[in-house]
Amino acid sequence: MDSGSIPVLRQRASPRDPNLLLILPLPPPQSVHLINVARPMSRHVLQVVYDGRVFRSKTEARWACCFNALGVAYQHEPTVFRFERGEGRLAHYKPDFYLPELEVWLEIKNEGTRPPDLVACWKAHRLALATHQPVYVFFGEPMGLRTLRCGNAYRYDPHDGGVTRCHQFTQCPRCSRIDVAPYGLASGVRCACEWGEADFSNAGCVALVEATATARRHRFRTLGQ
Ligand SMILES: [Zn+2]
Repeated sequence: MDSGSIPVLRQRASPRDPNLLLILPLPPPQSVHLINVARPMSRHVLQVVYDGRVFRSKTEARWACCFNALGVAYQHEPTVFRFERGEGRLAHYKPDFYLPELEVWLEIKNEGTRPPDLVACWKAHRLALATHQPVYVFFGEPMGLRTLRCGNAYRYDPHDGGVTRCHQFTQCPRCSRIDVAPYGLASGVRCACEWGEADFSNAGCVALVEATATARRHRFRTLGQ
């Protein structure tokens, strides 16, 4: 994603948790259009076939493989969003995944263990405000179990567009619901179970570890170079 003439982001620590980084919201988008036209992939990009779909990288395909292993429904690149970015210019954005049961968007960055540049993630900010749904920007290996112990995703809030870090896939040990939560805490799973003072991170649970191992072992079929 290009950053163009995006306003400078201001940062401050969260008053609730000094380890959480808040980025103050950008001005609201002037307008947002949703278009459903599929955009062709470049012939020069490696294409990976999995689950009857074509992915842009093995990293994306591994995420899809993880979702299947966990029984989490996913949609791969279901929609192209078009944002006006001022001065008559348009920007297109095709988020990598939508998880309909969780009602969240996922953007996957192929940048190893290095967190993505927040300014380059401005479209995720716009998407959260436009769809009124959270947008997570993940980096590192699928589920991030070994990338960062405290969580490897930014979360863009659907209400104010602010961003926090250290989010992680996790599972409620009682009802087995999979969700994304700050630090992978069981209390962050959107289920009816109560954890109270016994809250703990469950980001390294057996289901997630096994799903990641399944995705790592999978031999993907590739097209092109
Ligand atoms: Zn639960």
